[in-house]
Amino acid sequence: MKITIIGSGYVGLVAGACFADLGNEVVCLDIDSEKIEKLKRSIIPIYEPGLGDVVKRNVRERRLGFTTDRQKAIEHGDIIFIAVGTPSKEDGSVDLQYIESAAKDIGNYMQDYKVIVDKSTVPVGTAHKLMELIRHSQSAKNKKISFDLASNPEFLREGEAIKDFMNPDRIVIGVESEKAKEIMIGLYKGIERTGRPILITDIKSAEMIKYASNSMLATRISFMNEIANLCEKVGADVKMVAEGIGLDTRIGPRFLQAGIGYGGSCFPKDVRGLIDCGKQNSINFEILEAVNWVNEKQKKSLMPKIKKLIPDLKDKKIAVWGLAFKPKTDDMREAPSIAIINELQKLGAKVTAFDPEAEETARRIFRDIEYAKTPFDAVKGCNALVIATEWDEFRYLDKQKIKDLLAEPNIIDGRNIYDPKEMKKLGFNYIGVGRGLW
Ligand code: NAD
Repeated sequence: MKITIIGSGYVGLVAGACFADLGNEVVCLDIDSEKIEKLKRSIIPIYEPGLGDVVKRNVRERRLGFTTDRQKAIEHGDIIFIAVGTPSKEDGSVDLQYIESAAKDIGNYMQDYKVIVDKSTVPVGTAHKLMELIRHSQSAKNKKISFDLASNPEFLREGEAIKDFMNPDRIVIGVESEKAKEIMIGLYKGIERTGRPILITDIKSAEMIKYASNSMLATRISFMNEIANLCEKVGADVKMVAEGIGLDTRIGPRFLQAGIGYGGSCFPKDVRGLIDCGKQNSINFEILEAVNWVNEKQKKSLMPKIKKLIPDLKDKKIAVWGLAFKPKTDDMREAPSIAIINELQKLGAKVTAFDPEAEETARRIFRDIEYAKTPFDAVKGCNALVIATEWDEFRYLDKQKIKDLLAEPNIIDGRNIYDPKEMKKLGFNYIGVGRGLW
C-alpha cells in the first residue's frame, strides 16, 4: 500500500518505518527541514532502540522516504496518517493547531480518494472537526473529492516503540465507512497475523479509548505514590505492598511502582486533555484533577528527603543520575528531573548530571549544570546522589566505588532501584520512596 505519514516525530517515524518494514511504500513528511535532512541521511533525531536499523533497511530498499514537500507527500499516499504533536496549552486544553494545519494541507493537495487516519492523541470529536476542515479547504479550491476519516490511536511506549508497534496489545480502529474499514484491516493484516486483536469502534470511542487508557495508567501511578507517602508515615514498604496488590488478578502487577511521578510527552498532557474535554462537556473530572495534582506534588517529593540529609544546600555538590523522563529514551518532556534540578539550583546547590542518552536534550533545558561522562564521574566529590531515572545500568554498579567517590554517603533514590537494607549495611544514608520511615 502507499502510505503518507504527516509528522515524523516519535510516533510518525516509528509508524512510517514499521509500515515500510511490512512491505508498504511510505513517505514521511515533516515541516522541520532540519529533521528531514537528517533522516534523508539516515541520522535518527531521537534515541529509540532499534529504530535506526529499521529506518536504514527500508531507505536502502526504497520503501521509505522523507520530504518537506506537502504536495508530493499528500499525492503519494492512499492512506494518510496524521501523527503531529498535540501539546497542552497553558490552560490545560489541547493545542490543535498542528493537526488542523495538517488537515488543511490534505484538503488542499489531495487529488483522489484517501483514507485519512488520525494517529495523534486528540480530544473526542476532533476527527469530525478535521473532516469539516478538509471539506472546507477542498471547496476553497473548488474541489469535491471523497475521503474517509479514521481514528487509529497509538499506544507505543518510548524505549519499546518498535516492539510495541509490531506487537501491540491491541489495534484500535475507529471508522464509520465499510470501505475505510476494509482498507484499515488490510493495512494491519501483517500485525494481526501475529495474533494481536483489532478492535473496530466508532470514531469517537476510538478517540476516547486513547485518553482513557493513558488516564487510567496515570491514575495507578498517582495512587501508588499516595500509598508510598503513607508507607513513609506508618513504616510500611511500598515495594512489598505493590507486590501484594499486584498478585490480585483483578489488579495485576504493572504500573504499581511508586516513584517521583510520571512525565513524558503523553501522560501529563493527556490527563489534562481529558480533564479539559470533561469541562467542555460539563463534567468535572475530580479523580483526574487529583491524579494531576498528586503527580505535580510527587515530582518535588525528594526535596524534603534531600534537605533532611543536607539541611543547607548552598554551594553543596549534588549528583543527579537520569534526566530522561524514563529509561531508554532521550525525551525529557515534563521529566521529573527538571523539577528536581530547578529546586536544587534555587537552593544554591551545584548539580552534576549523568544520563546515558539525554545530555543533548538537557543542554537545551538547563543552565549552569555540569555533565559527567560516566555515573562514577558524576558522583565524584558530591555531597549526595539523587536518582531520577531508573536506567538499567545504574542497578548493578559497584556500590563501594560509589561510596568511595562521594564526599558524603548520601543517596536519595527516586526510583527505588536499590535495597534499603543492603545500602544501610554498606554505610549509605539511603532514602527511597515509600520504603518505611525516614
Ligand atoms: P513529536 O513532537 O515527536 O513529533 C511531531 C512532529 O510533527 C514534529 O516533528 C513536527 O515538526 C511535526 N509537525 C507538526 N506540524 C506538522 C505539519 N503540519 N505537517 C507536518 N509535520 C508537522 O510528537 P510525538 O511524540 O510523535 O506525538 C505525536 C502524537 O502522537 C501526539 O498526539 C502524541 O500525544 C501521540 N502519541 C505519542 C506517543 C509517544 O510516546 N511519543 C505515544 C502515543 C501517542
